[in-house]
Amino acid sequence: MADRYFRNEMPDFVPENQNIIEEERIEIHRQGTEDSLLRLLSLPYPTVLSHRLQRSAIDLKETIVVQTWGLTGQRVEDFTLYTGTLGTAFLLFKSFQVTHNKNDLNLCLEIIKACDSSSSQSRESLSEDDIHMEVTFMCGRAGVSALGAVAAKYMGDDQLLNHYLDQFKEIKLSDDHSNELFHGRAGYLWTCLFLNKHLGKDTIPSTSMGAIVREIIKNGRKLSKSGGSPLWFEFAGHRYWGAAHGLAGIMHVLMDFELKSDEIEDVKGTLRYMIENRFPSGNYPYSEEDKSRDVIVHWCHGAPGIALTLVKAAEVFGDKEFLEAAMNAAEVVWNRGLLKKVGLCHGISGNAYVFLSLYRLTGVVEYLYRAKAFTCFLLDRGHMLMLRGDMHGGDNPFSLFEGIAGMAYLFFDMVQPKNARFPCYEV
Ligand SMILES: [Zn+2]
Repeated sequence: MADRYFRNEMPDFVPENQNIIEEERIEIHRQGTEDSLLRLLSLPYPTVLSHRLQRSAIDLKETIVVQTWGLTGQRVEDFTLYTGTLGTAFLLFKSFQVTHNKNDLNLCLEIIKACDSSSSQSRESLSEDDIHMEVTFMCGRAGVSALGAVAAKYMGDDQLLNHYLDQFKEIKLSDDHSNELFHGRAGYLWTCLFLNKHLGKDTIPSTSMGAIVREIIKNGRKLSKSGGSPLWFEFAGHRYWGAAHGLAGIMHVLMDFELKSDEIEDVKGTLRYMIENRFPSGNYPYSEEDKSRDVIVHWCHGAPGIALTLVKAAEVFGDKEFLEAAMNAAEVVWNRGLLKKVGLCHGISGNAYVFLSLYRLTGVVEYLYRAKAFTCFLLDRGHMLMLRGDMHGGDNPFSLFEGIAGMAYLFFDMVQPKNARFPCYEV
């Protein structure tokens, strides 16, 4: 199914040309040509390219703010980070982290406030099922409270910080929550990790997080009686493998916690099961129930999200087998991951993070080059391809996970590639 992605015709490596010191010398080449892309790839990174990426990131951010906040009359219809207005707030927070522009932080907090009131108002009309979905950073009200608390901290507003933190603490998991990242326990735990990273180690005590970790493992073992992996989880009737709803996402979060030796063995065993049962192409199946179609190379399902989890495993356990598997998955992403979509969840922007993650772990500059290649492909021709209809701008075109806000987020991350983290996945 070659029509899902562009054939990657970019060279395996392009050395930087240190003699290029003025951007103007590049600008004369028309964008969207083979020549213009190669020239972008040869720009000296820290002195020229990273400035150019930062400028584009800021321009994109302005557009996204106008589209999702200004032109909507500051009304919030979808508050979530994944497809809604909180994604704009998260992008502003990222912009603040890179540029230290306090206006971004101010606007970020203003948007969070609107998301907060929208999410609490809509709460009254929600069904039981919807309320269950509020516990995660990506899709729930937990994201509003957690980002609110963290942004308030950087603003130096302790009262506001405590307001949002108290609100987060009111959010409770129930027995019938799922275990996955999007709507379930793993997504709730990720939110706790985000809070502890920014507000201090014991903001959410390890005992309460540990109890949820044990619950996840207990649930995973229960289903493993069906055979195969030592841990299995079900969501909407499927035993998914990927980052969004499946094993990769849950294992990724578990590895951020102190595990007992038998738990470590089960996490490792689960990852090994996936590695041993991947497709001959090196890509990974969508779910245990659907292991025949080798077509999806997304963060949400397929090699990219699983590669990030394998990098994490290599980092945490130090086992060579996980690093090798991560590198193999990254080859799939390089060859089949230049998707005809722009976003983080199932687009080029998200797939670029596989190379950034491997670069952070190994320091191998070829991985930085590959991240740079995916990013420069977007910088050079993303808009043109979307205008022509050759690339899909997402069902929610200005959103963080499906639209161009994800591309802006990647551009900001490429300014400081060693600090890059896949949002809502790598802490
Ligand atoms: Zn997706």
